[in-house]
Amino acid sequence: MFRSAIAGSLPKPDWLAETNKLWPRWAREGDALAQAKLDATLLWIKQQEDAGLSVIGDGEMSRQHFVHGFLEQVDGIDFEHKVEMGIRNDRYKAMVPQVVAPLKLRGRVHEAEAALLRAHTTRQVKFTLPGPMTIVDTVADQFYGDRVAMAMAFADLLNIEAKALQAQGVDIIQFDEPAFNVYMAEAADWGVQALERAAAGLTCTTAVHICYGYGIQANVDWKATLGEQWRQYEQVFPALAASSIKQVSLECFHSHVPPELMALLKGKDVMVGVIDVASDVIETPEQVADTIGRALQYVPRERLIACTNCGLAPMSRAVAEAKLAALGAGTRLADQRLGG
Ligand code: ZN
Repeated sequence: MFRSAIAGSLPKPDWLAETNKLWPRWAREGDALAQAKLDATLLWIKQQEDAGLSVIGDGEMSRQHFVHGFLEQVDGIDFEHKVEMGIRNDRYKAMVPQVVAPLKLRGRVHEAEAALLRAHTTRQVKFTLPGPMTIVDTVADQFYGDRVAMAMAFADLLNIEAKALQAQGVDIIQFDEPAFNVYMAEAADWGVQALERAAAGLTCTTAVHICYGYGIQANVDWKATLGEQWRQYEQVFPALAASSIKQVSLECFHSHVPPELMALLKGKDVMVGVIDVASDVIETPEQVADTIGRALQYVPRERLIACTNCGLAPMSRAVAEAKLAALGAGTRLADQRLGG
């Protein structure tokens, strides 16, 4: 049986936050906000189970943004005075907080939603955290003056939270590193090292998600400049194959990634993107099963996990629900066609 999972994020309901936004404003405050976050998490746990997914996530309902949600619990970061910064090699501008002092975790970051996730499903649960290199690329530095040193400092904080999540019964901890597809030489040089430092000592399954970003316009425009073959993965996969990280999530369906690059991940579980996050068109189960079939040429069946290309956060709820259903139905179709 093929396994299935989402990359990480899902759309927030309108009673929790603004919709169709990457940095949405919360719709509530205080206790009401805390409750709304958990209610939305519960809703998406149910939707993922109903879709038949084998790995369940929290949908990232409790964080405003996949990087800044973590940073909000870190001392040494000034959220009062955000500055505009070009991120992902200046692909787009974002208002980001500034690192102004030594970094220190204020306490647990995701305790409540991890407890709720673990309590409400008996399936495997996955929790996502931003990767050190992507954090460094999404915050302004007024203190460390060195990307590698700051990445290693963040890796130590991520490791503390990851170990606590593992102790809560999380089965898979995934670090999101879209920056690996932008700074390929640095990713292979120190990005993977920082990632392993974040995952040091974990006995649960560890994963990394590397993508071409959310389906926002800036990313769609960027992808149009990447040519016929997107070979970014080629530079970092060998370093990941040699690392201790167990699973790698990559884009596949509707991308220009040559599928043979998956063969560079020998020995790893591969989360193959079978759902496009840059289009509202819902994949058919046949399309999903076809993508799984193509990936099987390069990934052994027991190592293949059907997944979304990236998070679904900026999409509409209805589209995301339909895409979850397509992911589940397509994986079951692949079982019938190719299983056994
Ligand atoms: Zn992604």
